[in-house]
Amino acid sequence: MTESRAGVFIGGEWLATDTFVANVNPSDTSDVVGHFGVGQAHHVDDAVAAATRAAGEWRATPLEARAMCLHAIADEVTRRAESLGDLLAREEGKTLPEAIGEARRAASIFRFFAGEVMRVHGEIIDSTRPGADVLVTREPLGVVGVITPWNFPLAIPAWKIAPALAYGNSVVWKPASLVPASAAELTSIIHESGVPAGLVNMVFGSGSTIGQGLVEHAGVAGVSFTGSVGVGTGVATATAQRLARVQLEMGGKNALVVLDDADIDRAVDVAVQGSFYSTGQRCTASSRLLVTPGIHEEFVDKLVAAADGLVVGDARAPGTQIGPAVNAEQLEQDLSYIRIGQDEGSELLVGGVAVERSTPGHFITPAVLGSASNEMRISREEIFGPVAAVIPVADLDEAIAITNDCDFGLTAGICTTSLAAATRFRREAEVGMVMVNLPTAGVDAHVPFGGRKSSNLGPREQGRSAIEFYTQLKTAYVMP
Ligand code: NDP
Repeated sequence: MTESRAGVFIGGEWLATDTFVANVNPSDTSDVVGHFGVGQAHHVDDAVAAATRAAGEWRATPLEARAMCLHAIADEVTRRAESLGDLLAREEGKTLPEAIGEARRAASIFRFFAGEVMRVHGEIIDSTRPGADVLVTREPLGVVGVITPWNFPLAIPAWKIAPALAYGNSVVWKPASLVPASAAELTSIIHESGVPAGLVNMVFGSGSTIGQGLVEHAGVAGVSFTGSVGVGTGVATATAQRLARVQLEMGGKNALVVLDDADIDRAVDVAVQGSFYSTGQRCTASSRLLVTPGIHEEFVDKLVAAADGLVVGDARAPGTQIGPAVNAEQLEQDLSYIRIGQDEGSELLVGGVAVERSTPGHFITPAVLGSASNEMRISREEIFGPVAAVIPVADLDEAIAITNDCDFGLTAGICTTSLAAATRFRREAEVGMVMVNLPTAGVDAHVPFGGRKSSNLGPREQGRSAIEFYTQLKTAYVMP
């Protein structure tokens, strides 16, 4: 008998619900992490009402007290990083070191925004009317809807909830259906920090009921969403219809360029980390490897050997480097794209097969598809698995053209020892984030995060840029 836990937290209380869903460990499908209560449509109304009531109290809370709440959250997430990481690895399938790292990153984000509480600046500008001043100040939005995906169950909620609170907003959070345990733990930690009851409400449940209800709710001033392009487009449409603010972070099809002059061992390591770690289930994963002729053969040989040597297994087992796909659907999506790639004419050089381990799980070996072209579906559509397509390119010109021939524009990377090549790539890549001799995935917690084209809509997340979404400007004209 596994534990049943409430999945709805409103007004500072966990609420009982009629239905529950099982949360299953993707490394061992016989292991049920727990049964979590599922919210209904009326819970969205109740949560928005609670958040509306709490917003006034939070705005009246002195800045130091607000900052102390965020520090308390950071302290507690840090203190519990190992157990939170273990739970995250168990329900999502990220390896234990990655999951503990994610918990620590969530703590860093709360810590950063604890500092930002004290740094909300305005401007005073002379008016064109003699004697008058113009004051430009920032105010919170009000109730913010936060909708998050399953692949970073702690970090992504942190990078939305922390700035929302830092800048004086209240929150209704709809976590992804696959990761209720991490959501419940983070909700409890936030509540125990001393924030007013109702400041952060969490409603676990389906995207179509809870997510859609939140997006359409007249009491929600803005929605910050991370997820797929398909769902994000619907969120943008619904918020546009009621003229609410929206911020979308969506998919990626990120290119990593490897030039002839690259340090080859570093380039292989950068490609392995970017393409395969976290089982490729990262919006920032390197899924297109663009390689010039002088290094192509040696790079591919070394990449194939490295991919072949990666340890695939239970996310929480010591030594595992690649955990399982998050569920059976994602595993099937990975395998089906590998078949599509082969049918399109690319060559499967290593991996790409479902494998069995001592526990029943959704395990897949990291795949390298060689001789790919940028026209193939495997080079244009987000797979979200440990699958890298190697696309031969003639030179830097072609590498930049192919990097930019893409619907997405999240990250792009280059491995080179040429400062001139790196500089040109950094300037010309049509993406939100560029990496030089570093994996396309893996970002700092204190700087802007986000993309261009179909990867993003609205202001950047994280760092000091977060203030743009979570506050609104007011211009006051004052004649003494
Ligand atoms: P989805 O778009 O399927 O879901 C994201 C969230 O939206 C979930 O909480 C989901 O709920 C919810 N949702 C589903 N339907 C609706 C709806 N009609 N209205 C409102 N909300 C809804 O994405 P995944 O969870 O599958 O995450 C993977 C995707 O996220 C990938 O495309 C990936 O690239 C992207 N991603 C982007 C990042 C970035 O910053 N650019 C970072 C990480 C991931 P439910 O779970 O119940 O379906």
